Amino acid sequence: MQCDEWALYRRKEHYPRGHKEFRGPFFNVHGPMDTMSWFSNHGVELKTGKVVASASISTGGKFALKIQKLINCFEHVEANYLLIASGSSRQGFSLAAQLGHSLIDPVPSLFTFKIEDPQLAELSGVSFPKVRAKLKLENIQRHLPQYTQVGPMLVTHWGLSGPVILRLSAWGARDLFASDYKGLLIVDFTPDLHLEDVKRILTRHKSQFMKQKVHSSCPSEFGLVKRFWKYLLDREEINDEILWASISNKSLASISYLLKQCIFKILGKGQFKDEFVTAGGVPLSEVSLKTMESKIHSRLFFAGEVLNVDGVTGGFNFQNAWSGGYIAGTSIGGLANVKHIGMMNHLDIWLSTFAYIHQLSNQYHTTYQRMLLHWLL
Ligand SMILES: Cc1cc2nc3c(=O)[nH]c(=O)nc-3n(C[C@H](O)[C@H](O)[C@H](O)COP(=O)(O)OP(=O)(O)OC[C@H]3O[C@@H](n4cnc5c(N)ncnc54)[C@H](O)[C@@H]3O)c2cc1C
Repeated sequence: MQCDEWALYRRKEHYPRGHKEFRGPFFNVHGPMDTMSWFSNHGVELKTGKVVASASISTGGKFALKIQKLINCFEHVEANYLLIASGSSRQGFSLAAQLGHSLIDPVPSLFTFKIEDPQLAELSGVSFPKVRAKLKLENIQRHLPQYTQVGPMLVTHWGLSGPVILRLSAWGARDLFASDYKGLLIVDFTPDLHLEDVKRILTRHKSQFMKQKVHSSCPSEFGLVKRFWKYLLDREEINDEILWASISNKSLASISYLLKQCIFKILGKGQFKDEFVTAGGVPLSEVSLKTMESKIHSRLFFAGEVLNVDGVTGGFNFQNAWSGGYIAGTSIGGLANVKHIGMMNHLDIWLSTFAYIHQLSNQYHTTYQRMLLHWLL
């Protein structure tokens, strides 16, 4: 590899941490080109910067792929086997459709909620280790048990995020889409306490801290940060200067209700493309999960997010892609009766995403290639 190419991979913008250390011999031992050579030497031909623009069945029954190299520059490839593992790319969905598959409309999943509340935005960065949050959507009657989630939540400068919100967005992805991402989020900030316990704690605090201002003294049992306690009191229009001694029982009751059932108006989802995963794609009913082969066209395979599978956060989407990729690769290997890696070059197996490395640092591609090699070896 040329020195200037090495410099490219070490560049600051690629490694916010580590770029100084990488000026040493680190990449000389096994650099990006070595990684690519390793795959090529093991019989996996890598292709970069190319996109499968269309797919059809040739007169000989092979897959005819039109591949775009540059703008207006195409090549044509025929393949005995085709694995579509194109993630949530629109083009991938279109390839599946061109080969006779139906599609469940793709909609975003795993996203944050935009909340209408300027005071909440001021709390950006505040997190809650455990809340119970319930989703109520406009025009949606049904209520799944999964529309209530318990776990950590985070305030962002545009609304709410964190595992609880992402899980709600995943389970409610279709209903949220149908209701134009409008609805209510009802949050219980003390999920381990009953309403009566919350009231009792407030009453006891009142009797113990009579001379302190309500705004500056929050019962420790609630585990709330001061800024959020002040936010709750402001929502209840409790005067900044009022002492615990002067607070009415009615106010204590309303603070208790707010802690247990704090309503936030959902105005939309986080910015477009902020979502992590897409719900929808090729229906699982059209694919054999034993082999990942299409039930509509033999020798056509699918794996990963192109299928109508999506999981919550925690690596479940990766695992779907890895498991499906492994099964598909193994199935193709079995069908092609590959015995030796060397034979791989003679086989006309064209694996769309196996063959594409758009970014050398993209771990997802290499994962597929590892799975393919596992099958070959
Ligand atoms: C920011 C972010 C964070 C995420 N975090 C997590 C996480 O923590 N845990 C988790 O489980 N999941 C996570 N996901 C989701 C996860 O990345 C995907 O579900 C998973 O990578 C899907 O794998 P895949 O192989 O199906 O598709 P991808 O990894 O998307 O790979 C598809 C590849 O196909 C290529 N391709 C598409 N169309 C064509 C075409 N026409 N021709 C040639 N090539 C094509 C694409 O360029 C891409 O390289 C995250 C996603 C995002 C965006």
